[in-house]
Amino acid sequence: MKMTYQIERDGQGAERVMLSGPIDESLLPQIGDLSNQVGKDVTLVLKDVTQINSIGTRSWIEFLRVFCEGRTVRFSECSFDFLMAMIIIPSMTAGGTVESFYYLAYCSDCATEDSLLLNLSEDRAALLSTIEKATCPSCNKPMDFDEDPDVVLSALDNLGRT
Ligand SMILES: [Zn+2]
Repeated sequence: MKMTYQIERDGQGAERVMLSGPIDESLLPQIGDLSNQVGKDVTLVLKDVTQINSIGTRSWIEFLRVFCEGRTVRFSECSFDFLMAMIIIPSMTAGGTVESFYYLAYCSDCATEDSLLLNLSEDRAALLSTIEKATCPSCNKPMDFDEDPDVVLSALDNLGRT
């Protein structure tokens, strides 16, 4: 599987690019021409971005360095994989704004997994409360998290916020 993209335009000038696939050695040939396809104000939707490896990370940062030049770039609905990658490597967002991301939750009672979509326009207390109140969609017990929400939110504070 290779990275693909699809551009959505709402008719009022807003452009959203839905990226789907891995960030690996196949990245640059796949999205290298994206810069010529969109305008100066773009939202990258990353909910279907998975399997990020080190070669891909380097290619991604190289791609963004050119792509973000003279352009307003927002990162929306970042997948959990992308979230973890950008926490370790802040240059994954090249100074663009992170709008929202998926946070992985699981139920240790019935093994159900769920993704919470969190919006960074909310303040930290509200986000923490949303995470803490998350309940299992199948048995209604409180959800558990592999990553400490406090640590994740602190790391995101160092990146661009809406
Ligand atoms: Zn459950």
